[in-house]
Amino acid sequence: MERRWFYYPISMATCPCGHLGSLQRQCRCTPGAVHHYRSRISGPLLDRIDIHVDLAPLADHQMLDRRRGESSAAVRERVCRARTLQQQRFAGTRVRCNADMDGQMMDSFCQLGQDTRGMLRFAITELNLSARAYDRILRVARTLADLAGEANIGALQVQEAIQYRSLDRQMW
Ligand SMILES: [Zn+2]
Repeated sequence: MERRWFYYPISMATCPCGHLGSLQRQCRCTPGAVHHYRSRISGPLLDRIDIHVDLAPLADHQMLDRRRGESSAAVRERVCRARTLQQQRFAGTRVRCNADMDGQMMDSFCQLGQDTRGMLRFAITELNLSARAYDRILRVARTLADLAGEANIGALQVQEAIQYRSLDRQMW
């Protein structure tokens, strides 16, 4: 079984000055400098990271906003439910979660409808994604379906999983 390294969040600035994507400050980096900065992370390394998320710095009024999002308890409950689903799915095997599925399990549990498959194939070509990124997208989409309580992976989950390849999209 493939040994997996990154169960951990890692972070990097969006550009050398750190302001790219910020609404408050203007990035002064040239496109070439941004590309050079980001290309220091190799494709094979990015391929091993399941989820890429861009976070823009918060403005002062956003930090002071006291309205609450979904509670951590509610999120926890949903995650626990998805984890239980995965334990049931892989009962009797050494696999514990979607991230560790082997090829045969992926064939069984990551089936896509014809339209969704076509959309994913299009995205892979357009974004020039690697076979490994394709694999990551399917695993993440399976988990998103589990979180949503869906038996099958739908187009929505695949689209969301593709969104999480943002560094692939920007770099390659
Ligand atoms: Zn910058």
